[in-house]
Amino acid sequence: MSVQPEKTIKPIDKGIVHRICAGQVITDLSSAVKELVENSLDAAATTIEINLKDYGQQSLQVIDNGNGISSLNFKVLALKHHTSKLEGFHDLQSLTTYGFRGEALSSIAAMANLSVETRTVNESVGSNLTFDHSGVLISESKIARKVGTTVTVKNLFANLPVRSKEFSRNVRREYGKLVSLLNAYALIANGVRFVCTNTTGKNARSVVLKTQGNGSLKDNIITVLGINTFSCLESVSISLSDSCKVDGFLSKSGQGNGRSLGDRQYFFVNGRPVDMPKVSKLLNEIYKGANSKQYPIAILSFTVPTRVYDVNVTPDKRKIFISDEISILQALREGLQKVYSPSDVFYSVNKVE
Ligand code: ADP
Ligand code: MG
Repeated sequence: MSVQPEKTIKPIDKGIVHRICAGQVITDLSSAVKELVENSLDAAATTIEINLKDYGQQSLQVIDNGNGISSLNFKVLALKHHTSKLEGFHDLQSLTTYGFRGEALSSIAAMANLSVETRTVNESVGSNLTFDHSGVLISESKIARKVGTTVTVKNLFANLPVRSKEFSRNVRREYGKLVSLLNAYALIANGVRFVCTNTTGKNARSVVLKTQGNGSLKDNIITVLGINTFSCLESVSISLSDSCKVDGFLSKSGQGNGRSLGDRQYFFVNGRPVDMPKVSKLLNEIYKGANSKQYPIAILSFTVPTRVYDVNVTPDKRKIFISDEISILQALREGLQKVYSPSDVFYSVNKVE
Protein backbone atom coordinates (compact mmCIF):
# COMPACT_ATOMS: atom_id res chain seq x y z
CA MET A 1 0.00 0.00 0.00
CA SER A 2 1.37 3.40 -0.89
CA VAL A 3 1.88 5.91 1.88
CA GLN A 4 -0.76 8.63 1.87
CA PRO A 5 0.11 12.16 2.96
CA GLU A 6 -1.43 12.83 6.35
CA LYS A 7 -4.37 15.24 6.36
CA THR A 8 -4.68 17.70 9.19
CA ILE A 9 -8.05 18.56 10.67
CA LYS A 10 -8.55 22.33 10.53
CA PRO A 11 -11.45 24.59 11.42
CA ILE A 12 -13.48 25.70 8.40
CA ASP A 13 -13.15 29.39 7.68
CA LYS A 14 -15.96 31.28 9.46
CA GLY A 15 -17.17 32.95 6.25
CA ILE A 16 -17.45 29.56 4.50
CA VAL A 17 -19.34 28.05 7.47
CA HIS A 18 -21.72 30.99 7.31
CA ARG A 19 -22.47 30.44 3.63
CA ILE A 20 -22.92 26.70 4.09
CA CYS A 21 -25.40 27.20 6.95
CA ALA A 22 -27.19 30.14 5.33
CA GLY A 23 -28.10 27.88 2.43
CA GLN A 24 -29.98 25.65 4.87
CA VAL A 25 -32.04 28.46 6.36
CA ILE A 26 -32.91 30.19 3.11
CA THR A 27 -33.53 27.30 0.78
CA ASP A 28 -35.94 28.93 -1.67
CA LEU A 29 -38.11 31.96 -2.36
CA SER A 30 -40.77 31.03 0.18
CA SER A 31 -38.32 30.47 3.01
CA ALA A 32 -36.90 33.98 2.44
CA VAL A 33 -40.34 35.61 2.43
CA LYS A 34 -41.51 33.46 5.36
CA GLU A 35 -38.65 34.69 7.54
CA LEU A 36 -39.36 38.33 6.69
CA VAL A 37 -43.11 38.02 7.27
CA GLU A 38 -42.45 36.34 10.61
CA ASN A 39 -40.12 39.19 11.59
CA SER A 40 -42.91 41.67 10.77
CA LEU A 41 -45.40 39.67 12.85
CA ASP A 42 -42.91 39.49 15.74
CA ALA A 43 -42.60 43.30 15.49
CA ALA A 44 -46.37 43.56 16.09
CA ALA A 45 -47.16 44.84 12.59
CA THR A 46 -50.83 45.21 11.67
CA THR A 47 -50.12 45.71 7.97
CA ILE A 48 -47.67 43.62 5.96
CA GLU A 49 -47.13 44.25 2.28
CA ILE A 50 -45.10 41.87 0.16
CA ASN A 51 -44.04 43.13 -3.25
CA LEU A 52 -42.30 40.85 -5.72
CA LYS A 53 -40.62 41.79 -8.96
CA ASP A 54 -40.54 39.09 -11.57
CA TYR A 55 -41.86 36.50 -9.08
CA GLY A 56 -39.10 37.42 -6.63
CA GLN A 57 -36.26 36.77 -9.07
CA GLN A 58 -35.40 40.43 -9.45
CA SER A 59 -36.40 41.53 -5.96
CA LEU A 60 -38.70 40.98 -3.06
CA GLN A 61 -39.70 43.51 -0.49
CA VAL A 62 -41.59 43.18 2.79
CA ILE A 63 -42.98 46.42 4.20
CA ASP A 64 -44.47 46.55 7.69
CA ASN A 65 -45.84 49.07 10.16
CA GLY A 66 -44.34 47.27 13.16
CA ASN A 67 -42.13 48.57 15.95
CA GLY A 68 -39.12 49.29 13.75
CA ILE A 69 -35.48 48.70 14.69
CA SER A 70 -33.60 50.88 17.15
CA SER A 71 -30.39 52.50 15.86
CA LEU A 72 -28.58 50.74 18.72
CA ASN A 73 -29.11 47.49 16.81
CA PHE A 74 -28.13 48.54 13.28
CA LYS A 75 -24.58 47.15 13.40
CA VAL A 76 -25.61 43.72 14.68
CA LEU A 77 -28.91 43.41 12.80
CA ALA A 78 -27.67 41.03 10.10
CA LEU A 79 -24.95 39.27 12.08
CA LYS A 80 -25.34 35.55 12.55
CA HIS A 81 -27.09 34.42 15.72
CA HIS A 82 -27.98 37.92 16.84
CA THR A 83 -31.55 38.17 18.09
CA SER A 84 -33.69 40.32 20.36
CA LYS A 85 -36.05 37.39 21.04
CA LEU A 86 -34.12 34.82 23.05
CA GLU A 87 -32.00 35.45 26.15
CA GLY A 88 -31.38 32.03 27.65
CA PHE A 89 -31.76 28.43 26.54
CA HIS A 90 -34.73 27.97 28.87
CA ASP A 91 -36.67 30.65 26.99
CA LEU A 92 -37.10 28.03 24.27
CA GLN A 93 -39.77 26.42 26.46
CA SER A 94 -41.93 29.51 26.65
CA LEU A 95 -41.39 31.12 23.26
CA THR A 96 -44.24 33.02 21.71
CA THR A 97 -42.28 34.68 18.89
CA TYR A 98 -41.88 33.14 15.44
CA GLY A 99 -38.16 33.82 15.39
CA PHE A 100 -35.50 33.13 18.00
CA ARG A 101 -32.45 31.76 16.19
CA GLY A 102 -31.17 35.10 14.93
CA GLU A 103 -30.12 33.70 11.58
CA ALA A 104 -32.68 34.85 9.01
CA LEU A 105 -31.32 38.28 8.12
CA SER A 106 -27.73 37.06 8.26
CA SER A 107 -28.59 34.13 5.97
CA ILE A 108 -30.47 36.37 3.53
CA ALA A 109 -27.49 38.76 3.49
CA ALA A 110 -25.25 35.80 2.58
CA MET A 111 -27.56 34.73 -0.28
CA ALA A 112 -28.58 38.11 -1.73
CA ASN A 113 -28.22 41.90 -1.58
CA LEU A 114 -29.94 43.03 1.60
CA SER A 115 -31.09 46.52 2.52
CA VAL A 116 -33.33 47.67 5.35
CA GLU A 117 -35.25 50.88 5.90
CA THR A 118 -36.60 51.37 9.39
CA ARG A 119 -37.87 53.84 11.97
CA THR A 120 -39.03 53.41 15.56
CA VAL A 121 -41.51 55.68 17.30
CA ASN A 122 -38.60 57.23 19.26
CA GLU A 123 -36.89 58.57 16.15
CA SER A 124 -38.09 61.46 14.02
CA VAL A 125 -36.48 60.20 10.81
CA GLY A 126 -35.87 56.77 9.37
CA SER A 127 -32.63 55.09 8.36
CA ASN A 128 -31.62 53.23 5.24
CA LEU A 129 -29.10 50.46 5.84
CA THR A 130 -27.21 48.18 3.49
CA PHE A 131 -25.27 45.06 4.38
CA ASP A 132 -22.54 42.99 2.75
CA HIS A 133 -22.67 39.21 2.32
CA SER A 134 -21.17 38.69 5.78
CA GLY A 135 -23.98 40.72 7.33
CA VAL A 136 -21.70 43.67 8.08
CA LEU A 137 -23.38 47.09 7.91
CA ILE A 138 -21.77 48.91 4.97
CA SER A 139 -23.84 52.07 4.63
CA GLU A 140 -26.31 54.09 6.65
CA SER A 141 -28.24 57.18 5.62
CA LYS A 142 -31.26 59.13 6.85
CA ILE A 143 -34.60 58.95 5.04
CA ALA A 144 -38.16 60.10 5.62
CA ARG A 145 -40.47 57.21 6.45
CA LYS A 146 -43.27 56.11 8.74
CA VAL A 147 -42.66 53.94 11.80
CA GLY A 148 -42.01 50.37 10.67
CA THR A 149 -39.55 48.41 8.57
CA THR A 150 -38.99 47.64 4.90
CA VAL A 151 -36.64 44.84 3.99
CA THR A 152 -35.52 44.63 0.37
CA VAL A 153 -33.82 41.55 -1.04
CA LYS A 154 -32.32 41.71 -4.52
CA ASN A 155 -30.70 39.01 -6.63
CA LEU A 156 -31.64 36.12 -4.38
CA PHE A 157 -29.19 33.22 -4.83
CA ALA A 158 -27.17 35.16 -7.45
CA ASN A 159 -23.96 33.98 -5.78
CA LEU A 160 -25.06 30.32 -5.70
CA PRO A 161 -25.04 29.25 -9.37
CA VAL A 162 -26.85 25.91 -8.91
CA ARG A 163 -29.63 27.29 -6.75
CA SER A 164 -30.00 30.38 -8.89
CA LYS A 165 -30.51 28.16 -11.96
CA GLU A 166 -33.01 26.02 -10.03
CA PHE A 167 -34.88 29.15 -9.00
CA SER A 168 -35.22 30.50 -12.54
CA ARG A 169 -36.17 27.07 -13.90
CA ASN A 170 -38.92 26.56 -11.31
CA VAL A 171 -40.11 30.13 -10.90
CA ARG A 172 -43.81 29.36 -11.26
CA ARG A 173 -43.68 26.44 -8.86
CA GLU A 174 -41.72 28.46 -6.30
CA TYR A 175 -44.21 31.26 -6.66
CA GLY A 176 -47.16 28.88 -6.15
CA LYS A 177 -45.52 27.56 -3.01
CA LEU A 178 -45.04 31.10 -1.76
CA VAL A 179 -48.69 32.05 -2.36
CA SER A 180 -49.84 28.98 -0.45
CA LEU A 181 -47.49 29.87 2.41
CA LEU A 182 -48.72 33.47 2.52
CA ASN A 183 -52.29 32.16 2.54
CA ALA A 184 -51.45 30.24 5.71
CA TYR A 185 -50.22 33.38 7.49
CA ALA A 186 -53.14 35.44 6.18
CA LEU A 187 -55.58 32.81 7.48
CA ILE A 188 -54.21 32.65 10.99
CA ALA A 189 -52.91 36.15 11.70
CA ASN A 190 -56.12 37.83 12.82
CA GLY A 191 -55.82 41.59 12.98
CA VAL A 192 -53.08 41.76 10.34
CA ARG A 193 -53.77 43.14 6.90
CA PHE A 194 -51.83 41.28 4.19
CA VAL A 195 -51.23 42.50 0.65
CA CYS A 196 -49.03 40.65 -1.80
CA THR A 197 -48.29 41.87 -5.32
CA ASN A 198 -46.14 40.80 -8.22
CA THR A 199 -44.85 42.88 -11.13
CA THR A 200 -43.53 41.18 -14.24
CA GLY A 201 -41.66 43.17 -16.89
CA LYS A 202 -43.59 46.27 -17.85
CA ASN A 203 -46.94 44.82 -16.84
CA ALA A 204 -49.03 46.46 -14.15
CA ARG A 205 -48.76 45.15 -10.61
CA SER A 206 -51.02 42.21 -10.00
CA VAL A 207 -52.50 41.66 -6.57
CA VAL A 208 -51.92 38.11 -5.45
CA LEU A 209 -53.49 38.28 -2.02
CA LYS A 210 -55.35 40.93 -0.07
CA THR A 211 -56.99 40.63 3.33
CA GLN A 212 -58.68 43.25 5.49
CA GLY A 213 -57.07 42.18 8.73
CA ASN A 214 -60.06 42.80 10.93
CA GLY A 215 -61.80 39.48 10.83
CA SER A 216 -62.08 36.10 12.44
CA LEU A 217 -60.69 32.84 11.06
CA LYS A 218 -64.01 32.41 9.25
CA ASP A 219 -63.71 35.85 7.58
CA ASN A 220 -60.13 35.09 6.60
CA ILE A 221 -61.12 31.76 5.05
CA ILE A 222 -63.77 33.53 2.99
CA THR A 223 -61.27 36.17 1.84
CA VAL A 224 -58.36 33.83 1.16
CA LEU A 225 -60.06 30.65 -0.08
CA GLY A 226 -63.39 32.09 -1.29
CA ILE A 227 -66.99 31.84 -0.18
CA ASN A 228 -67.65 28.73 -2.29
CA THR A 229 -64.90 26.84 -0.54
CA PHE A 230 -66.08 28.09 2.83
CA SER A 231 -69.61 26.87 2.20
CA CYS A 232 -68.26 23.31 1.88
CA LEU A 233 -66.62 23.45 5.33
CA GLU A 234 -67.94 22.84 8.80
CA SER A 235 -66.48 24.15 12.02
CA VAL A 236 -64.89 21.72 14.46
CA SER A 237 -63.66 22.01 18.02
CA ILE A 238 -62.05 18.99 19.64
CA SER A 239 -60.61 18.74 23.13
CA LEU A 240 -57.39 16.70 23.00
CA SER A 241 -56.37 16.71 26.67
CA ASP A 242 -56.75 18.90 29.77
CA SER A 243 -54.60 21.59 28.18
CA CYS A 244 -54.68 20.92 24.41
CA LYS A 245 -57.43 21.51 21.88
CA VAL A 246 -57.93 21.99 18.19
CA ASP A 247 -60.40 24.31 16.47
CA GLY A 248 -60.98 25.08 12.85
CA PHE A 249 -62.79 24.07 9.72
CA LEU A 250 -62.92 20.82 7.76
CA SER A 251 -64.61 19.70 4.55
CA LYS A 252 -68.10 18.41 5.22
CA SER A 253 -68.19 14.70 4.60
CA GLY A 254 -70.09 14.93 1.34
CA GLN A 255 -68.27 18.01 0.09
CA GLY A 256 -64.56 17.34 0.00
CA ASN A 257 -63.44 19.84 -2.60
CA GLY A 258 -59.70 19.49 -2.15
CA ARG A 259 -58.26 19.12 -5.65
CA SER A 260 -55.77 16.50 -4.55
CA LEU A 261 -54.65 14.81 -1.37
CA GLY A 262 -53.28 17.50 0.94
CA ASP A 263 -54.57 20.39 -1.16
CA ARG A 264 -55.46 23.34 1.07
CA GLN A 265 -54.70 21.62 4.33
CA TYR A 266 -53.36 24.23 6.74
CA PHE A 267 -52.17 23.32 10.23
CA PHE A 268 -51.21 25.76 12.98
CA VAL A 269 -49.79 25.28 16.45
CA ASN A 270 -50.34 28.31 18.67
CA GLY A 271 -50.68 30.45 15.55
CA ARG A 272 -47.54 29.10 13.86
CA PRO A 273 -48.07 27.49 10.45
CA VAL A 274 -46.43 24.06 10.62
CA ASP A 275 -46.25 20.79 8.71
CA MET A 276 -48.19 18.03 10.47
CA PRO A 277 -47.89 14.97 8.22
CA LYS A 278 -49.29 12.62 10.87
CA VAL A 279 -52.37 14.76 11.42
CA SER A 280 -52.88 15.10 7.67
CA LYS A 281 -52.56 11.32 7.22
CA LEU A 282 -55.03 10.66 10.03
CA LEU A 283 -57.53 13.14 8.65
CA ASN A 284 -57.26 11.75 5.11
CA GLU A 285 -57.71 8.22 6.39
CA ILE A 286 -60.83 9.00 8.44
CA TYR A 287 -62.28 11.19 5.72
CA LYS A 288 -61.80 8.39 3.21
CA GLY A 289 -64.01 6.20 5.39
CA ALA A 290 -66.82 8.73 5.00
CA ASN A 291 -66.17 9.81 1.41
CA SER A 292 -63.89 7.72 -0.76
CA LYS A 293 -64.23 9.90 -3.85
CA GLN A 294 -63.12 13.33 -2.62
CA TYR A 295 -60.33 14.97 -0.60
CA PRO A 296 -60.73 17.03 2.57
CA ILE A 297 -59.69 20.65 2.95
CA ALA A 298 -58.55 21.51 6.48
CA ILE A 299 -57.77 24.63 8.47
CA LEU A 300 -56.90 23.32 11.92
CA SER A 301 -55.52 25.44 14.70
CA PHE A 302 -54.02 23.63 17.70
CA THR A 303 -53.72 25.34 21.06
CA VAL A 304 -51.14 23.70 23.28
CA PRO A 305 -49.03 24.90 26.25
CA THR A 306 -45.60 26.04 25.01
CA ARG A 307 -43.87 23.52 27.31
CA VAL A 308 -45.54 20.65 25.43
CA TYR A 309 -43.82 21.15 22.08
CA ASP A 310 -40.47 21.93 20.54
CA VAL A 311 -40.17 23.95 17.34
CA ASN A 312 -36.39 23.99 17.32
CA VAL A 313 -36.13 20.89 15.15
CA THR A 314 -35.30 22.32 11.72
CA PRO A 315 -34.03 25.80 10.75
CA ASP A 316 -37.37 26.66 9.12
CA LYS A 317 -39.25 25.63 12.30
CA ARG A 318 -42.01 23.98 10.24
CA LYS A 319 -41.45 20.66 11.97
CA ILE A 320 -42.40 20.26 15.61
CA PHE A 321 -42.07 17.64 18.30
CA ILE A 322 -45.05 17.32 20.58
CA SER A 323 -44.60 15.43 23.81
CA ASP A 324 -47.28 12.83 24.38
CA GLU A 325 -48.00 12.87 20.64
CA ILE A 326 -49.52 9.37 20.72
CA SER A 327 -52.32 10.26 23.13
CA ILE A 328 -52.97 13.57 21.35
CA LEU A 329 -53.30 11.77 18.00
CA GLN A 330 -55.58 9.20 19.60
CA ALA A 331 -57.84 11.93 21.00
CA LEU A 332 -57.83 13.58 17.58
CA ARG A 333 -58.75 10.29 15.92
CA GLU A 334 -61.73 9.89 18.25
CA GLY A 335 -62.80 13.51 17.67
CA LEU A 336 -62.54 13.18 13.89
CA GLN A 337 -64.44 9.90 13.94
CA LYS A 338 -67.30 11.73 15.65
CA VAL A 339 -67.17 14.53 13.08
CA TYR A 340 -67.36 11.99 10.27
CA SER A 341 -69.66 9.53 12.01
CA PRO A 342 -72.11 7.64 9.75
CA SER A 343 -75.04 9.82 10.83
CA ASP A 344 -73.08 12.87 9.74
CA VAL A 345 -72.28 11.24 6.38
CA PHE A 346 -75.93 10.52 5.85
CA TYR A 347 -76.84 14.07 6.77
CA SER A 348 -74.19 15.75 4.60
CA VAL A 349 -74.60 13.53 1.58
CA ASN A 350 -78.33 14.08 1.64
CA LYS A 351 -77.81 17.78 2.03
CA VAL A 352 -75.66 17.92 -1.12
CA GLU A 353 -78.17 16.03 -3.15
P1 ADP B 1 -34.77 36.35 14.77
O1 ADP B 1 -36.09 36.68 14.16
O2 ADP B 1 -34.61 34.88 15.00
O3 ADP B 1 -34.46 37.16 15.97
P2 ADP B 1 -33.66 37.56 12.38
O4 ADP B 1 -32.35 37.42 11.71
O5 ADP B 1 -34.86 37.22 11.61
O6 ADP B 1 -33.61 36.70 13.72
O7 ADP B 1 -33.79 39.06 12.89
C1 ADP B 1 -32.79 39.60 13.76
C2 ADP B 1 -33.38 40.71 14.62
O8 ADP B 1 -33.69 41.83 13.80
C3 ADP B 1 -34.69 40.35 15.30
O9 ADP B 1 -34.47 39.69 16.55
C4 ADP B 1 -35.33 41.73 15.47
O10 ADP B 1 -34.87 42.36 16.64
C5 ADP B 1 -34.81 42.53 14.28
N1 ADP B 1 -35.80 42.60 13.16
C6 ADP B 1 -35.78 41.91 12.00
N2 ADP B 1 -36.80 42.25 11.20
C7 ADP B 1 -37.52 43.17 11.86
C8 ADP B 1 -38.72 43.91 11.58
N3 ADP B 1 -39.39 43.75 10.43
N4 ADP B 1 -39.15 44.79 12.51
C9 ADP B 1 -38.48 44.96 13.68
N5 ADP B 1 -37.35 44.29 14.01
C10 ADP B 1 -36.87 43.41 13.13
MG1 MG C 1 -36.63 36.22 12.29
